[in-house]
Amino acid sequence: MHHMTLAEIARGLADKKFSSVELTQTLLARIAQLDPQINSFISLTQDLALSQAKAADERRANGESGALLGAPIAHKDLFCTQGIRTSCGSKMLDNFKAPYDATVVAKLAAAGAVTLGKTNMDEFAMGSANESSWYGAVKNPWNLAHVPGGSSGGSAAAVAARLLPAATATDTGGSIRQPAAFTNLTGLKPTYGRVSRWGMIAYASSLDQGGPLARTAEDCAILLQGMAGFDPNDSTSIDEPVPDYSAGLNSSLQGLRIGVPKEYFSAGLDPRIAELIHNSIKELEKLGAVIKEISLPNMQHAIPAYYVIAPAEASSNLSRFDGVRFGYRCENPENLEDLYKRSRGEGFGSEVQRRIMVGAYALSAGYYDAYYLKAQKIRRLVKNDFMSAFNEVDIILGPTTPNPAWKLGAKSSDPVAAYLEDVYTITANLAGLPGLSMPAGFVDGLPVGVQLLAPYFQEGRLLNVAHQYQLNTDWHTRTPTGF
Ligand code: GLN
Repeated sequence: MHHMTLAEIARGLADKKFSSVELTQTLLARIAQLDPQINSFISLTQDLALSQAKAADERRANGESGALLGAPIAHKDLFCTQGIRTSCGSKMLDNFKAPYDATVVAKLAAAGAVTLGKTNMDEFAMGSANESSWYGAVKNPWNLAHVPGGSSGGSAAAVAARLLPAATATDTGGSIRQPAAFTNLTGLKPTYGRVSRWGMIAYASSLDQGGPLARTAEDCAILLQGMAGFDPNDSTSIDEPVPDYSAGLNSSLQGLRIGVPKEYFSAGLDPRIAELIHNSIKELEKLGAVIKEISLPNMQHAIPAYYVIAPAEASSNLSRFDGVRFGYRCENPENLEDLYKRSRGEGFGSEVQRRIMVGAYALSAGYYDAYYLKAQKIRRLVKNDFMSAFNEVDIILGPTTPNPAWKLGAKSSDPVAAYLEDVYTITANLAGLPGLSMPAGFVDGLPVGVQLLAPYFQEGRLLNVAHQYQLNTDWHTRTPTGF
């Protein structure tokens, strides 16, 4: 049962092959048995799951249908879930029970999805390895000595280990696409504004975007359908109609113009990954796509710009965690200043503290023009590069990451080395564009992802290309040994 995709589960439930309660019980037992190896969950919500599954079965018995009705999922632990711990991977919020549901959580629950639990993540979504979680590192099911990617490493590891078919995640600089690449999944970061951020604990508000992590493009279409749409509670949510993503999966790729940026194949890229990317290009050419070399000249400036803008926004967003209103409070403070200092010093881990300091520095009066303003100008140049590229091509293709998943601990003492691994994903966040990562092969037994980027609101095009690719390849069907 645990090998089924969301699409297969929907068919099985519709054909009454099994009930949502049976499926939920099977997966909860599997999580109890296997999750100790990978640590992908922070909280399990067994009671909620069983009552949601029972309600979904009743709705089906009363004639309702829907691809998510009775489908088991999990939420990254930064989506607020009413009455349930929402920790953001931090000691700071270990005791925080959200007073309301995030829009994404509410929408998926209304569609009948069953929440099995809340998944592990880098603290406040800062990281690329899921090693900064206060709840411990997550292991990659493909090789337990390696990281699963981050910051949505818990969602990715859980889906890759077949503990459940799909999960929600968020992507500020690559945190859906990079863990998808590292664990052989398909992950989609939507256009900024496509999915509501209301109730999603903020890291860097102008970059954060929620999206689906699943094994196939077909399943990402189903989950995105349940997440996307205008939300009056999020002033950056965009009032654009949501297309039927599943209906668009089967369009032909004949004549699709794919741009391959020449800057992508630089010295930093593992040549074995480059070869797999070229194989995926050949595969898409067979399906009728036309390949064109393009250029993204400002790409080299994207990492420094991102690592100014994201910490700057984080330093502002995280100022609310002061030990007064919610979250961790230190013992016996001497006075108010001591309360602030010790609550934040004890509640936040070192990577979060580093980013708050970098961000506060970049925003300070003397350095604002030199760092923050300059970074914003680079952001515009990065966006302009994409706008001119998309005058010539329909999709941009390249690697998701320059290297496969590294060993646990390999980069934990060198934060800049980890930042550099974000080189291919970060530009889409700076520009607000949608991006997808899908399985493209293996290097030393570790999965490799190919990334597709599209113009604003063309999530459907990404899903269509990925689905056609997956109909003609079998990388996405490979299962990690032991799971
Ligand atoms: N690795 C990037 C960072 O650490 C991206 C994280 C994310 O997308 N949440 O900021």
